[in-house]
This record gives sequence, structure tokens and C-alpha cells, in this order.
Amino acid sequence: MRSRTSWEGPPPDPAWFKCWFCRKTSKQVRTRYGAEFPVRDPNTFAIITLIFICSECVAKFAEWDAMKARGKPSSS
Ligand SMILES: [Zn+2]
Repeated sequence: MRSRTSWEGPPPDPAWFKCWFCRKTSKQVRTRYGAEFPVRDPNTFAIITLIFICSECVAKFAEWDAMKARGKPSSS
């Protein structure tokens, strides 16, 4: 028996991909970063799926991370 992936058909067009967080399409953001995200599947237990994060969200998370590193949120 051969196991096969669930994806059938032609490979997806990169233009379809949206940001995993804000759902902006590739046309709405300048840069997308590829990432791998483990998804739990009831049959295969875990599969790695390819996701994209836009530059805006990456900047946002970097800001949050820097804020956390300082210990408390800055009240400007
Ligand atoms: Zn985003």
C-alpha cells in the first residue's frame, strides 16, 4: 500500500497564499515569509504545512517580542 499526500492536482499558485495571521493576499503586502507549521491531523497525527507570514505581521511580532523582553509594555 502506498501512502499519498492529500494534495491532488496542480501545485498551488503562490499568488493564492494569504498571510496566516492577517489574511492579506500577496498583492496587499510587499513581502511574505515562508514558514512551516505543524498541523495535527487525526489520521496522520502530524503533518507539516507551509504557511506564509507577511512582513507587516513579522514587524508586529518583533515589536511585541521586544516589548516582552523589556518586561512591561511601554505606555506612550
Ligand atoms: Zn500579515
